[in-house]
Amino acid sequence: MNDEQLLRYSRHILLPEFGVEGQEKLRASRALIIGAGGLGSPAALYLAAAGIGSLTLADGDAVDLTNLQRQILHATASIGQPKVASARETLARLNPEVAFVPVEAKLHGAALDDLVQHADVVLDCSDNFPTRHAANRACVKHQRPLVSGAGVRFDGQISVFDLRREDSPCYNCLFPEDAPAEEERCAVLGVFAPLTGIIGAMQAAEALKLLAVIGEPLCGRLLLLDALGMEWRSIRIRRDPACRICANR
Ligand SMILES: [Zn+2]
Repeated sequence: MNDEQLLRYSRHILLPEFGVEGQEKLRASRALIIGAGGLGSPAALYLAAAGIGSLTLADGDAVDLTNLQRQILHATASIGQPKVASARETLARLNPEVAFVPVEAKLHGAALDDLVQHADVVLDCSDNFPTRHAANRACVKHQRPLVSGAGVRFDGQISVFDLRREDSPCYNCLFPEDAPAEEERCAVLGVFAPLTGIIGAMQAAEALKLLAVIGEPLCGRLLLLDALGMEWRSIRIRRDPACRICANR
């Protein structure tokens, strides 16, 4: 790192758990964020600010006026632009050192598989079950840690699925794809503005810990937030030995 980088990241480097070594690990790391909305916005901002080497952000939508109440990557002037283009501008202003790879698409199939394979960590910041399950399948297949977040109304949740660990469940162990669907379209539900900020920032925290190999990841636990009462619950989650996705990996 040069002098400017040592200054930019000095408050990380001052952390004994992090140091120059942890910061160098971040600089050598590639993250994939699926979704540039309420969760993806704070996640991308924190990963870029913290000095991730490469950040791939995938989203097929354009910025809409109704997004701006919580999707803090985007500004009023970006309405109508692709979200990944708006994100590119915001992140370049924040930290031009990050190699930003915009993917203007709703990820699925071979494209998703390829991007997961080339990432060191995957953050699922999407808003629908098909994408969540597709991301999980690719992460199980390629043994990539998946930091999964969700937030609607005043309720948030977050967990880490890391199949490099013997005891880790996958997303499908917790929410089986073939279970009766009770999905409500997030697009038409209310969302408390800072809720996605809280969960998305925690997704960034878990991703940074995984990449720098510090602390204990949120693996095997699901955290549930009730932002109205501002109470957290932590639930132990186990691998399902009969899981269709991870049992015979
Ligand atoms: Zn599983």
